[in-house]
Amino acid sequence: MSRKALPPLPADPFECLTQGCERPWEVDVDPFEVAERTYYVGNNWVGAYLVETSDGLILIDTTMQPQVYLVFEAIRKLGFAPEDIKLILISHMHYDHLGGVRALREASGARVMMSREDWDFMQARPDMIFAEGYPFGDFEPDAFFDDDVPVRLGDREIRTVLTPGHTPGTTSFFFDAGDRLCGLHGGVGLNTLGDAFLEKAGMPRSARDDYLAAMLKVRELPVEITLGSHPGQVGMIEKVGDIRPGHNPFLDPGIWKPFLDNRIAQVRALMGEEA
Ligand SMILES: [Zn+2]
Repeated sequence: MSRKALPPLPADPFECLTQGCERPWEVDVDPFEVAERTYYVGNNWVGAYLVETSDGLILIDTTMQPQVYLVFEAIRKLGFAPEDIKLILISHMHYDHLGGVRALREASGARVMMSREDWDFMQARPDMIFAEGYPFGDFEPDAFFDDDVPVRLGDREIRTVLTPGHTPGTTSFFFDAGDRLCGLHGGVGLNTLGDAFLEKAGMPRSARDDYLAAMLKVRELPVEITLGSHPGQVGMIEKVGDIRPGHNPFLDPGIWKPFLDNRIAQVRALMGEEA
């Protein structure tokens, strides 16, 4: 495979951003099953997930516009057709998650859903999409999430939970795959919650309180399969080699709470409290 010719990546893809090694978002990943009828179709740095339903496909997040061809290829490698995407759900308004929306929608005619909070913020502050220097096709969502009304397509249902903090409208997704509960926190990064960033973004310090409150709420959900909005958050790519018939290495009820607890401790430190 072509990616074997590339230099090896560090264990933590985020090191690439700070140390200037091979750009991990340009490295393809063979798509893999993370749960029943649920697949990873992102690249080596940012996640995208395909949910198969009885009435077409749901795509959660789109990666970046220059890398969107990797998403198309991943979907095709799984034996699906990108034209069968009926719904695109966006976790949050940063470029690495919604940069590919326009191309994917043009190819499929899919409806696009995101949070009203993030849509409003990206209209007011397009600089906060962080698309600067990258191609970015504008789009408008077809509908906004409503946490009281699960997103439904065919025989699948995805519950959304507004988990603000990383952005004002970061949204997390929870859904059954077979008899297992999958959880995808839409954005855990604390890089947008420091004093300097909040000031630049015109956001109140209470964004940290919002982040913490939402974290404490979703940590109680009995998630059995944790999906990373970036796979490195929970070491997903490293587990691909452990996939065997009858063994799903992503099925581990012990991941969700410690993953969130780590971020809870970090935001509390940022808030000057004892963790
Ligand atoms: Zn982000």
